[in-house]
Amino acid sequence: MTKPMFDRVAILGVGLVGSSIAHAMRRANLAGHIVGHTKRAETLKRAKRIGFADSLTDSVVKAVKGADLVILATPVGAFGAIAKAMGPHLKPGAIVTDVGSVKGAVITDVGPYIPKGVHFIPAHPIAGTERSGPEAGFAELFDGRWCILTPPKGTNKRALKTLKSFWEKLGSKVEVMDAKHHDLVLAVTSHVPHLIAYNIVGTADDLRSVTEGEVIKYSAGGFRDFTRIAASDPTMWRDVFLNNKDAVLEVLGRFSEDLSALQRQIRWGDGDALFKLFTRTRAIRRGIVDAGQDSAEVNFGRNTPAKKKR
Ligand code: NAP
Repeated sequence: MTKPMFDRVAILGVGLVGSSIAHAMRRANLAGHIVGHTKRAETLKRAKRIGFADSLTDSVVKAVKGADLVILATPVGAFGAIAKAMGPHLKPGAIVTDVGSVKGAVITDVGPYIPKGVHFIPAHPIAGTERSGPEAGFAELFDGRWCILTPPKGTNKRALKTLKSFWEKLGSKVEVMDAKHHDLVLAVTSHVPHLIAYNIVGTADDLRSVTEGEVIKYSAGGFRDFTRIAASDPTMWRDVFLNNKDAVLEVLGRFSEDLSALQRQIRWGDGDALFKLFTRTRAIRRGIVDAGQDSAEVNFGRNTPAKKKR
């Protein structure tokens, strides 16, 4: 067997993303030793039972000691405190990275604690599910998905090349981007869509007393797809909105204006305008499927009566 890419890798936070990285690292033989860290004893026990790490600890300091690659994979709001605790114990020449869904705030929160001689390169795999916790992880999570790296100015080129190759070996396609641009793009493609889902599901729940169970009964009419997104982890998403405030508020401003325009078109019976928009959006869906970023199957491949008959 060839030598693994890293002797020792520390994963801080072993939920969906952290445990998936461990599974994918094992698949590609990328680490001699994987050490996982998590805060709660109960999560530690669950992770131990699954067995995706060679060792597990509730101590940040013990986890990062001697690690060649350190990956922050907790909710973003915890990054600052973890970075402060681990900073003095990082191995010279190590690479520190993360998987957080926002990037500007991560650079501000973590950057100051990274000592000279340690390479800090933030990353964001655009891959996930609505599940969370150590049981949710699987090796194929990153296959064919994008991972965005946002190296701060002056990042060591060799370290960047190594991290890029690491993500490719996990199955991802890699793109390098400025952190501010990342935060705006993700506000449009991920953060605001999640906010819309949280909002519509909340509104429907408030109306439940009026509709008496019909929200659940007839949910296949589109609502169901929003509930899948709105089931995403509350801590993670609270932290995303608190840490990408500017970009989210900017995109929400545009969204509200466009929603008002739609409201007006419905009020004044402007069918042409509605038809034009819906035709444009249908083409976007086709583009996503053609790019291999989603399934072309009817109903996202869910078991429909039509599918069961086949
Ligand atoms: P998750 O499944 O909820 O896992 C988070 C893990 O972090 C849990 O094991 C939790 O363990 C641990 N944790 C929380 N606070 C901690 C602390 N202060 N110190 C140590 N461990 C702590 O979350 P996830 O979906 O993997 O998300 C992790 C990161 O990936 C987030 O930053 C998120 O923005 C990013 N991300 C998520 C997705 C997605 O779709 N889910 C996609 C891309 C990137 P305890 O039970 O011990 O607290």
